[in-house]
Formats: sequence, C-alpha cells, structure tokens
Amino acid sequence: MSDNAFDFGVVGAGIVGLALADRIRQVQPTATIAVFDKESSVGQHASGRNSGVLHAGFYYSPDSLKAQLTRDGNNLLRDFLAAENIPIRECGKVVVAQTEAEVTQLQELHRRGIANGVTTELIDETKLTELEPLAKTVNLALWSPNTAVANPLQATVALAEKVKREGTVLKLGHEVTSVGPGKVVTSNGVFSVGHVINAAGLYADRIAKPFGFCDDYAMLPFKGLYWYGNWAPNTLLRHVYPVPDPRNPFLGVHLTVTVDGRAKIGPTAIPIFSRESYQGFAGLTPREILEIVGLYPKFLTSKNHDVFGLIKTELPKYLQRHLVNQAQALVPSIRPADFKERGKPGIRAQLLDIKNKKLEMDFVVRGDEHSTHMLNAVSPAWTSAFAMAKHVCSKFA
Ligand SMILES: Cc1cc2nc3c(=O)[nH]c(=O)nc-3n(C[C@H](O)[C@H](O)[C@H](O)COP(=O)(O)OP(=O)(O)OC[C@H]3O[C@@H](n4cnc5c(N)ncnc54)[C@H](O)[C@@H]3O)c2cc1C
Repeated sequence: MSDNAFDFGVVGAGIVGLALADRIRQVQPTATIAVFDKESSVGQHASGRNSGVLHAGFYYSPDSLKAQLTRDGNNLLRDFLAAENIPIRECGKVVVAQTEAEVTQLQELHRRGIANGVTTELIDETKLTELEPLAKTVNLALWSPNTAVANPLQATVALAEKVKREGTVLKLGHEVTSVGPGKVVTSNGVFSVGHVINAAGLYADRIAKPFGFCDDYAMLPFKGLYWYGNWAPNTLLRHVYPVPDPRNPFLGVHLTVTVDGRAKIGPTAIPIFSRESYQGFAGLTPREILEIVGLYPKFLTSKNHDVFGLIKTELPKYLQRHLVNQAQALVPSIRPADFKERGKPGIRAQLLDIKNKKLEMDFVVRGDEHSTHMLNAVSPAWTSAFAMAKHVCSKFA
C-alpha cells in the first residue's frame, strides 16, 4: 500500500476514534489504519474536556446502547487504565434527593440499575453521612460504588500512544474537508481509504451526511462550564449528583472529585450557537450560528422537552454565583467564594432528531460496507468508548 492508502481511515482522535483504531488492530492485526484529526494534538475536544467520571450505567433505559455499553465500557476502561498505570480514584457516587417526589425517582434509578446489571444501593441519611459527610438528602439517597474518576486527557493521550506503538498512523493537523466512499480529502492531502470510520464528535453529522447517514439529525451544542473549589484535597470524598430530569439527556449540576482529590462543580448544559466556542468570541462562525439558530424554532416547539424551562434554568448558570448556589442544594457547606477557579469548558455533541423535535437520548451507530458513523457520542461516551468499539468492530472480525 502507498503512504496515502489505508484499509481503515478514522476521522477524529478523541477517545472514541482511538478506541475504534485500537479494536480494529485486535480484530485485523495486519490492517493499515490511519486516524485523522484537524488538531495538532489528541483529545482537544470533548475527550480532554470532560469530568473524567467512569459512569456505572444505571441511568439509562435498559434497552438502550448506553445501558449496555456504559456497564461494559466501565470495566474495559478500568482494564486499560490499569494496563497503562493511569491513576483511578474509586470514589463512587451518591445521588441525592431534594424533595419527597424525587425519592420515587431514586427508586426508579435503583430498578434501572438492577435491570442494567449495575450495582446500586438505596441508603438512608445515616449511611449517606458515613459515605459523604458533606452531602444532604431527603429521606433516601442512591449509592453507586462502581462510579469512579480518572484524568480524561491522560487516558486519551495514552490510548493514542498505544495505537501508534501498534502500527496505526496518526495524521494530526489533517482536517477532513470532504469525504465519500473510498476517499478522505484533508487539508494536508488526499487519502484512499477502504472503510471510513466517523468519530468526529461535534462534526460527526457533517462527516456522515455525504454518506446519507445523518439527514434526520442536526447538531445542537450545549456548553459545560466548571468551577474548581479551593478546598484542601480530599475534603469531598464522593461525586454528588442530583436526581436528573428524565426528559433531558443531562444529569443536572453536580459535584465531582477529581482524581487528585479536588472538588469541582459542573458541568452545565447551556445552549450555545457554535460548536467550538469555548471562550468569548473564539470559535464562533457565522455559518454555524445561522445553522443552529435556525433549529431553535423546531426545538422550542418540542412536546418532548420543556425547552423554555431548560433555557430558563441553564442560562443563569453562566453566573458563577448562581451555579454555586444550585450546588448548595446538594452540599450545603459550599460557599461561592470557595469556587472561583474556572475549569476548562467542554461542549456536548448533542443531536436533535429533526422530525420528532427530540434530543436524541441514545448513542447512534450507522453504516454500511463503506463507512461507519458514531453519532450522538455524548456523555458517557468517554466511559463507553472501548465497549462501543468492541460492539462496532465485531463486523470487521
Ligand atoms: C462537559 C462534558 C462533560 C462530560 N463528562 C463526561 C464524564 O464525566 N464521563 C463520560 O463518560 N463522558 C463524559 N462526557 C462525554 C465525553 O466527553 C464524550 O462523549 C467523548 O469524549 C466523545 O468522544 P469522541 O471521541 O466522540 O469526541 P471528541 O473527543 O470530541 O473527538 C472528536 C475529534 O474529531 C476531530 N474532528 C472533528 N471534525 C474533524 C474533521 N473535519 N477533520 C478531522 N478531525 C475532526 C476533533 O478535532 C476531535 O479531536 C462529557 C462531555 C462533556 C462535553
């Protein structure tokens, strides 16, 4: 094969694209594989800008890909972290209720855990205080011992090093500008590719469209902001989450512990009008703004979501004090003055099902003999990536 021809061409060097490259190597040891990314280093988008939580998999509907791939992905990611000597903090997670009505939802989450084969336990306030003295609940809380945390960028970089060691070619600084069966055109050359794998995150819809696999979806990005606390390490022992609104794919403002023991609030899910506008006006493009603003008339009239409610609750979270006040409902001792350090924001690659005016809740995998597309690789796809790759690559074995 020439330098510009590969059996597999993966678009996107985030955790999902790299896990796919890793799995293809296992099922086809002699395949030639290239991973293209427009950035000069890996993990520059969601995979390096998330909470690093290894989710357990109890939130999701039992018939969903998310349920299966998160449960299995949690184990596979643990194996990878152990093999690469990457630290993991086995902090677990508590989900706390703020009203009696939410206790019923906690019980439903517990039932989902059982259906999904994921260990959870309903605990009383005394046990909650033993596990996390700072958290408050009404009546009961849900304990998830298999939720953990690691450094997401460190894991992504280590995976890139592994696939490179094993023969995959990383083509960084190669923006894919057009693509079709057998061919990937980049800002740095044209490549012939036997099978195209699309793991382009916030741009996965654009890569899928020429293959006819994403006409029913549009990208609707949501921004996740974080604030770090100045507390001494290990002051917060567990991740503390609220009961999520089941109509939305987001989990609500929560507190996580980083792998080195710092407390952090976030992420938000603030609607934004550009896919990579992390800071100020940087990353804003008129084409994207027009595209995304054009979706709002559809989204706002959705019967599936309380969109005005979502906007009303999310927009004020741009204000640090407001966000911190929300977190106080979970951990009352939090003070706004203690959480003044901004974290690196991340943007969720959320798809809107255009016809049904519905935010897609599950991962979506589509493809044929020419291409495979990882669509709606939203949270918890960092946890699920290795299981996703195993699921998808069974067709290449
Ligand atoms: C705020 C936030 C918090 C989250 N927290 C968690 C969590 O705690 N646990 C968890 O499991 N999940 C979490 N997630 C979800 C998780 O981060 C993502 O699901 C996961 O990282 C998706 O990986 P990816 O490889 O699909 O996408 P990405 O990491 O975004 O990678 C896509 C890559 O494609 C490249 N690309 C795009 N277009 C092109 C093009 N045209 N040409 C070449 N390259 C291109 C990009 O540069 C990028 O590197 C969170 C997400 C966000 C935003």
